Amino acid sequence: MKPVQIRVIDKKKLFIKWDDETESEIGLEKLRKRCPCATCLAEREKQSKSYIPILNENEVKIININQVGNYAITVTWKDGHNTGIYEYPFLKKLADEK
Ligand SMILES: [Zn+2]
Repeated sequence: MKPVQIRVIDKKKLFIKWDDETESEIGLEKLRKRCPCATCLAEREKQSKSYIPILNENEVKIININQVGNYAITVTWKDGHNTGIYEYPFLKKLADEK
């Protein structure tokens, strides 16, 4: 499964159209909060379950999206963070989560 189109809608959501004609939408805040890079994973592990991260504006703005091979994308956030590699199945799972 691969995206045929990826774009940011209303500066709020990541829209992905997949090659099986299905579509996914992920809120940018959720995307950032679930950043799969080692730094963010470690950060989240340290926090208690009741901790609610407050993100600043630059942390939820995307300035660039790059494809990694044919299995993932990286997102460059306005605050410069760009180490998260979002694999396609992970993106699909994020979008389906309530
Ligand atoms: Zn991260």
